[in-house]
Amino acid sequence: MRTDEMHAIRLRDVSRVHGSGDHAVTALDRVSLAFPQGTFTAVMGPSGSGKSTLLQCAAGLDRPTAGTVTVGGTELTGLSETRLTLLRRDRIGFVFQAFNLLPALTAEQNVALPLLLAGRRPARAEVREVLERVGLGARAKHRPAELSGGQQQRVALARALITRPDVLFGDEPTGALDSQTGRQVLGLLRGMVDTDGQTVVMVTHDPVAASYADRVVFLVDGRVHGELAGTTAEDIAARMTRLESDPDTRPMTGAEAFPC
Ligand code: ADP
Ligand code: MG
Repeated sequence: MRTDEMHAIRLRDVSRVHGSGDHAVTALDRVSLAFPQGTFTAVMGPSGSGKSTLLQCAAGLDRPTAGTVTVGGTELTGLSETRLTLLRRDRIGFVFQAFNLLPALTAEQNVALPLLLAGRRPARAEVREVLERVGLGARAKHRPAELSGGQQQRVALARALITRPDVLFGDEPTGALDSQTGRQVLGLLRGMVDTDGQTVVMVTHDPVAASYADRVVFLVDGRVHGELAGTTAEDIAARMTRLESDPDTRPMTGAEAFPC
C-alpha cells in the first residue's frame, strides 16, 4: 500500500497567505502533517495560530498558497472547483462550533440534506440509523429550536456522517456546549474512531476535549510546534500554558508590537 492510502489526509509543506504586499498574513507556514486512518487527532494553539485555516485547507474548503494536500490517494492541488466540491461531498464531513442546522427542517430532514444535494433519494432507514448512532432516534421529527445545544450538535454530527466520510473534521465542535454535554459529543467521536475506524481531526482550545484524541498537534504562528500522544488533560494544559507564556511563541501584546 502506498503511504498516502494509509493516511486519510496528508499535508506537505502547506502554506496559506491571506492578502498580499504589506497586508499579507501568513496563516500557515510550511506545515507538514499526516492524519492516519482510524485515528483521532486534536489541533491546539493560541488564537490566530492557524488552526481553522489548517482544517479548511485539509478539508478542501480553502486552497493553500503553496504545498500539497492529499485526501486518500487524491491530491487536491489542481482539482477544478467542481471536482473539489464532489470530493468534499463524498469524502469529507465537517462540524462547526455553531451547529449550522436549517431551522425550518426537522432533525431527519437536516440529516438527509447532504444526500438530497448529491441527487440521491435518502432511505428513511438510513437516516434513522445514523440518528440512532448519535442517540437521537427518538428526536427525528424535532426541529432545531426544540432540541438542546448538545442534541443539535449531535444532529450536525449525524448530518456529517450520513455520507460515510473518510474524515470527519470538527472546528471547536464542543465550544458552544457546557462541559457535560461536550463530553457526550466527545465520547461519541471517540466511539466512532474505536468502533468504526472513523478518522477524526478536531480543533479545540479545551485540554479535556483534546485528551479524548490519540494525538494532540500544537500550532504556533502557523507552524507545527510539537505534539503529544496518549496523554492527559493536565499534561496538555501544561503544554498550552508553556506555549502561551514562552516569549518566542507568545503573540506580541499591543505595547510590544507598537513601542512608543
Ligand atoms: P485560529 O483558528 O487558530 O484562531 P485562523 O486560522 O482563523 O486561526 O487564522 C490564522 C491567521 O490568519 C490569523 O492571523 C487570522 O487573522 C488570519 N486570517 C484568517 N483568515 C483570514 C482571511 N480570510 N483574511 C485575512 N486574514 C485571515
Ligand atoms: Mg479558529
